Amino acid sequence: MRIIQIIVGPLATNCYLVSGDDDPGALLIDPGADADTILMTLEAEEMSLRGIVLTHGHPDHTGALRKVVATTGAPVHIHPADAPLLRHTWPEYFVAEPPAGPGTVIREVRDGDVLKVGEADLRVLHTPGHSPGSLVLYGEEVAFTGDTLFAGAVGRTDLPGGAEADLAASLQRLVTELSPITLIYPGHGASSLLTQELQTNAWLK
Ligand SMILES: [Zn+2]
Ligand SMILES: [Zn+2]
Repeated sequence: MRIIQIIVGPLATNCYLVSGDDDPGALLIDPGADADTILMTLEAEEMSLRGIVLTHGHPDHTGALRKVVATTGAPVHIHPADAPLLRHTWPEYFVAEPPAGPGTVIREVRDGDVLKVGEADLRVLHTPGHSPGSLVLYGEEVAFTGDTLFAGAVGRTDLPGGAEADLAASLQRLVTELSPITLIYPGHGASSLLTQELQTNAWLK
């Protein structure tokens, strides 16, 4: 699996391009901002966009969605509990148009669904808490954790739809279901190893 990280927007959101080793078909995770940079990277890496996955519906993860979809026509995968956020505007973040433009193909994904990238299967884990429809994509000892789990921290639960008890249960699930040598690629900040987090992240103890 090839993973390319692009840091975008004022909140330094981690956007990822993931493809197979010998397959240019790529998944784009969390196009938070800077659509031109994302599109240029796709071209430079000779990847063709097969789909977009949103770890959740917050505007710092969806800011470039409209333009990327308008350019590529790629379908957008999101958990149904966060899908309504794609029809919102976010004036407080200076987002005047909803992330889903006309003609956007939205494919709702649920816990246990599998997205293919090259030879790899990436499984959807529904991990509510930071938002009701937060998800983690997990496969081949790699996990894209969005704003659920960061290196040394976890997502906030004080935004609309956030729930501390749900987040605690979701984190517990990651601890039990993920291999300890899983590489964690979070929605913001540095990547990490799950073993490292188990030893040092106070929220996982
Ligand atoms: Zn968020
Ligand atoms: Zn975020």
